[in-house]
Amino acid sequence: MMVLSGLAGCQAVNPGPAPREQSEADAFRRRLVQESGGLYSNPEVSRELAEIGKRLSEAAGGRPMTILVLNSPIPDAYIAPGGYIYLTRGLLALTDDESEIAAVVAHEMAHILSGHAEARARLGRQAAISSADIAAALPDSDRVRALLADASAQVADLSRQQELEADAMAIQLLAEAEYDPAALVRFLKTMQSMDAPPGARRSYNTSHPLPSDRIERAEALTASYQPEVAE
Ligand SMILES: [Zn+2]
Repeated sequence: MMVLSGLAGCQAVNPGPAPREQSEADAFRRRLVQESGGLYSNPEVSRELAEIGKRLSEAAGGRPMTILVLNSPIPDAYIAPGGYIYLTRGLLALTDDESEIAAVVAHEMAHILSGHAEARARLGRQAAISSADIAAALPDSDRVRALLADASAQVADLSRQQELEADAMAIQLLAEAEYDPAALVRFLKTMQSMDAPPGARRSYNTSHPLPSDRIERAEALTASYQPEVAE
């Protein structure tokens, strides 16, 4: 299914819409909401998210973002064209404080600001073109296997690189918005200790691959933001 495969990465959603693609973007969001148990509405949560979004958007130069909660128990986060960030109810339940919610939002915001979805879509189009190479390589199954492995390695590399970039920008945004920059590392450690629910097609750990050095790198970056402690 197109939409589900598009959700394999939090950044792997449709690229930002040109005006003529607006209705496609709207349809994508409707589909995402439908498949995730609808929107979760709670005035207190909405107020908190609006405040977090405002502080982080200001830190990011003022680009407005809309943050919504999906009524799904499975922890996950998505972006959609038009500056939309979706967090699930299950993800919010795993956060310990406002800074950790801000950390997840900042990470998703970084994917949007860095155009990661567009880069993934470009790579996807290149992969589609290379199916012609695959046809040319047939019936040499070793060559076909090598081509396929190469394409999937490229996607994995890009995805890993984008996660690290989004973390680095998120830590910077948190510090600039005067949230605790260490909140991202705390949240990543929580997610690292979680297994995806059995049979779940999606989860934060699936959409946000956790390279072994992701937490280590985030910790090193966070350390540079710690205030000097006077002796
Ligand atoms: Zn991510």
